[in-house]
Amino acid sequence: MKAAEAALARLDGVVLRHGVSAKELTTFGVGAATTLLAELNSIEACRSVCRSLEELAQPWKMLGGGSNVVLPDAALDYPVLRLGRGLQGAALEDGGRLLPVEGAVNLLNQSDEEPRLYVGAATSLMSLSRLLTSKGLSGFEFASGIPATVGGAVAMNAGAHGGCIADALVSVHVAEAAGESFIDASELSMGYRTCELPAGTIVVGASFRLRRRGVEDCRKQRRENLMYRKRTQPLHLPSAGSVFRNPSQASAGELLEDCGFKGRRCGGIEFSQMHANWLVRLSAEAKSAEVAQLLEAAMQEVRSRKSIDLQPEIRLW
Ligand SMILES: Cc1cc2nc3c(=O)[nH]c(=O)nc-3n(C[C@H](O)[C@H](O)[C@H](O)COP(=O)(O)OP(=O)(O)OC[C@H]3O[C@@H](n4cnc5c(N)ncnc54)[C@H](O)[C@@H]3O)c2cc1C
Repeated sequence: MKAAEAALARLDGVVLRHGVSAKELTTFGVGAATTLLAELNSIEACRSVCRSLEELAQPWKMLGGGSNVVLPDAALDYPVLRLGRGLQGAALEDGGRLLPVEGAVNLLNQSDEEPRLYVGAATSLMSLSRLLTSKGLSGFEFASGIPATVGGAVAMNAGAHGGCIADALVSVHVAEAAGESFIDASELSMGYRTCELPAGTIVVGASFRLRRRGVEDCRKQRRENLMYRKRTQPLHLPSAGSVFRNPSQASAGELLEDCGFKGRRCGGIEFSQMHANWLVRLSAEAKSAEVAQLLEAAMQEVRSRKSIDLQPEIRLW
């Protein structure tokens, strides 16, 4: 790790930080502080970091908004990479210079019924959803209330209320040790919460095809989605969203509730009383090991009582 740190410290557009807490990096706020966090502020920085770490055979992991990741209790022995402000914003051309999203949206051709917008991967998905719906541009109404970055949302094919990122995605801009490229969305086998990005790539931006729709219709749908979330999800407590993917036979929430997991606790972590498929953090001292213990117990019980194998949606590092 020392060699990696020395190599990254020499690169332009890279800001290194030490001991950044799980509460700052993830929405769940569980786990140890990150030993080395590298914030990357340009596509060139992403490429050179990938190249340097590859030369040193140093593994690394990419973090977006940290809304689907649970950090381990033990200190990480690899660097965590995260995109910085330099990769926030939008442009009219793929890979073009990023402007504030609103500025780029205002430049879209008003007579184009299906305008294309390139968005930097560090952009907040929630802000993008709010801005596009306020302009009557459809495609991101589903994303209200998802605290992701655009890069993380592409990597997970985030979705809700019958929509997902893949619906509007045209292509993904990636950086890796060998350079940068655009991958057509059709080549990423995107499905329910899956996207097959090539190993070792960082999503630096993505291009979307939007549709024009009445501003009021867009706003109404976004508002309804948000209200549904507030009614059904424990948004007042730290979490990483849904814990398990829904299997084809039934919703994960119903299975967990049937098996008595609603309200089940381990230390400072609980299967929410409000939504059985959400784990919430009840105390600042909660451990990642407690999350793992509850996941394992739920998977075993659902397997033995329902003969269904639950697959975690959250990622335990
Ligand atoms: C309150 C709440 C509500 C939620 N609601 C939903 C919902 O309705 N639907 C839904 O699908 N999810 C939901 N989630 C989960 C989460 O928001 C999504 O999985 C989201 O896509 C994660 O994005 P992120 O930027 O936070 O990525 P992270 O959680 O940081 O990372 C997720 C994965 O993406 C990878 N990744 C992140 N950025 C990049 C990048 N630039 N390049 C390559 N790989 C990258 C990471 O390595 C990791 O494997 C919710 C979470 C919370 C806390």
